[in-house]
Amino acid sequence: MSTESCRLDLAELERPALEAALDARGHHRFHAGQIFRWLYHRGVTDPAAMTDLSRDLRTALANGFTLSTPEVVQREKSVDGTEKFLLRLADGRTIESVFIPDTPSMTFCISTQVGCAMACAFCLTGKMGLVRNVTAGEIVGQVRVLVDALNMRDTRFNIVLMGMGEPLHNYDQTMKALRILVDENGFAMSPRRITLSTVGLLAALEKLAKEPVMPNLAISLHAPTDRLRGELVPINKKYGVSDIIDVCQRFPLKRRSRITFEYVLLAGVNDRPEDARRLAKLLAGVKSKVNLIPLNAAAGIPFERPSDEAIDRFAQILADHRLTVSVRKSRGRDIRAACGQLIVEGQKKSAGQQLAVMI
Ligand code: SF4
Repeated sequence: MSTESCRLDLAELERPALEAALDARGHHRFHAGQIFRWLYHRGVTDPAAMTDLSRDLRTALANGFTLSTPEVVQREKSVDGTEKFLLRLADGRTIESVFIPDTPSMTFCISTQVGCAMACAFCLTGKMGLVRNVTAGEIVGQVRVLVDALNMRDTRFNIVLMGMGEPLHNYDQTMKALRILVDENGFAMSPRRITLSTVGLLAALEKLAKEPVMPNLAISLHAPTDRLRGELVPINKKYGVSDIIDVCQRFPLKRRSRITFEYVLLAGVNDRPEDARRLAKLLAGVKSKVNLIPLNAAAGIPFERPSDEAIDRFAQILADHRLTVSVRKSRGRDIRAACGQLIVEGQKKSAGQQLAVMI
């Protein structure tokens, strides 16, 4: 397809927008569903190959639209099967997406921003600052690329929005991407197979609670008190722990659903028995499960991974308080694809962008 910028980019169009674009060009709106099925269900991007469309429409697509697709510039495979993809976007910026081949479910870890403004103290992505938001087409584009590269067109997979970036800091594009992903003519994903992870941007969380497409929710908590969380997750100075718990208690959950609280364990910082007891007290009464993430140590991160004994002790205290707790297996550490290790060098934020973040 042509890449002229005046043409509409199919990757950025939800189905109703594509229907309107077709209508404006004198074509029937229902062709949008067919085009979605070619693009997302079958992975066909060349209009000439969309054989159930008329010749006129195929020509109109080729001449009037473009289709941006992230380009794979590097692919690394861990000894545990995890694969990290470095993808170049249309403007030359790069992001990382990760395939985690857990059984029985396969998972894609997808990025929503180039870099991240949240500056969590234990995260390499946070060291980049925010470079720019990723568009809805680029978010879905990561899924299209991974499905093709991994030959997974007929394989069910989960999506976690836990790659580079804070999804709720890129709210509109993230929600648009979710609508494209769940479209019955597209990937037709169940929202239950998608998990959105956030540090807890309260205004955005309140908005999310009213969305028709509701993914699973994971809150990056990481500490049970404001004092400690403020050191690890700077946004906590604006939205405190009790505010987040309050919103979570009111969050509309489907039957049997629970909110996941992610807690990265840092040796000697937040892994003490009293931290576990405080966490248990905080989450009493919240429909929750806790995912403990022993730190993936990396150069540039001033923390260490706790001992296995400390991890077990922390988990046991939570379990003793009747909390559901899991300890995340670290995947892809040898290729720096593990949680908090995604970073793309050489595209730091500009000075203007450093101050452009008003959350
Ligand atoms: S942990 Fe998530 S929110 Fe925090 S800096 Fe890293 S990518 Fe951003």
